[in-house]
Amino acid sequence: MIPVMKPWLGEEEATAAADAVRSGWVAQGPRVAEFETRFAERVAAPHAVAVSSCTTALHLCLHLLGLEPGDEVVVPSFSFIATANAAVYVGATPVFADVELEDGNLSRRTVEAALTDRTRAVVVVHQGGMPADVEPLYALCRERGIALVEDAACAAGSTHLGAPVGTGAELAAWSFHPRKLLTTGEGGMFTTTEPELASRARRLREHGMSVSAAERHQSRQPVLESYLEVGFNFRMTDIQAGVGLVQLRKLDEMVERRRMLAACYQEALAGIPGLRTVHDPGHGESNFQSFWVELGPQFPLTRNELLRTLADAGVSARAGIMAAHRQPAYAGHPHGDLSTTERLTDNTLILPLYHDLSDEDQGVVIGVLRRAAESRAVS
Ligand SMILES: *Cc1c(COP(=O)(O)O)cnc(C)c1O
Repeated sequence: MIPVMKPWLGEEEATAAADAVRSGWVAQGPRVAEFETRFAERVAAPHAVAVSSCTTALHLCLHLLGLEPGDEVVVPSFSFIATANAAVYVGATPVFADVELEDGNLSRRTVEAALTDRTRAVVVVHQGGMPADVEPLYALCRERGIALVEDAACAAGSTHLGAPVGTGAELAAWSFHPRKLLTTGEGGMFTTTEPELASRARRLREHGMSVSAAERHQSRQPVLESYLEVGFNFRMTDIQAGVGLVQLRKLDEMVERRRMLAACYQEALAGIPGLRTVHDPGHGESNFQSFWVELGPQFPLTRNELLRTLADAGVSARAGIMAAHRQPAYAGHPHGDLSTTERLTDNTLILPLYHDLSDEDQGVVIGVLRRAAESRAVS
């Protein structure tokens, strides 16, 4: 079976994890601190705070905004469900906005349709690594006095106007789940331009403690910590950070390989009637964390039929990005027009794309798609 995704891990990561274990320091410590420094450099963010996942990073972002019950947070339904759940965690109400057909991301137009007097924040997702057009959203949020959070879970290595995605973000959340490019098993990062938000986030991820456990351990004098506010345990381990440091050094190579494979798909699938491939938008470059195609009425098979045809040929593809508003967790949750979200979620599929995908295996995937395109075209 050709998998849809496979993390690019090797001996170096195994050694890094073993080194952390052998050092005797396995919880958050020096490797986490170094990983934060290197990650901040890589995405050109002034401050980075490592956490246990992107879900906890998003929770932290919304907690830092001090949202209250009744406050609304505009989120895309067209995203992994964690984006919407983060609003619920802080007692706020997620309000689903539609996305643009071209890139599957929120835009000023779709966000404006979801704003109310109670809107306090917007979470924009760089879906599948595709950079969202954030400039008009920042302008809109400034005009309305509301916060913009960037869910960059999938976007490490993507660019926006020539700079890394998330550069200049006051609140951005990243994921190191194996389904993304750079992985630590589980893990996440909060990045910010604001030093006060960074120091409060450091405290909140560690039970609201005034002194970190690492600082207390390294001190020669007894240190009495106090708990300044109710915090969380959102810490990353040094074992994870050790792996993350190796992965981070490989990120440029990962992006380069993925963009090459994406270009091959785009070229090989161009001109198939009823099949549209995802492309870079004008304002940036994707890391192609997900490479999706949309099937139109001219394509002879439905999306689900094509998924079955691919599976029969030994290719594991996936239905496109989910729509959170259709899940039982949000049953009965009111929402406006989400027609583009529904069109994309129903008609897109994600093709295999990972660092070690061989040209031969990619050729197999392309072959199945081409044959499927011709299958019933004659009848
Ligand atoms: C994967 C993902 C998340 C959740 O990331 P975790 O690190 O698994 O918590 C959140 N938002 C988006 C858009 C994602 O793709």
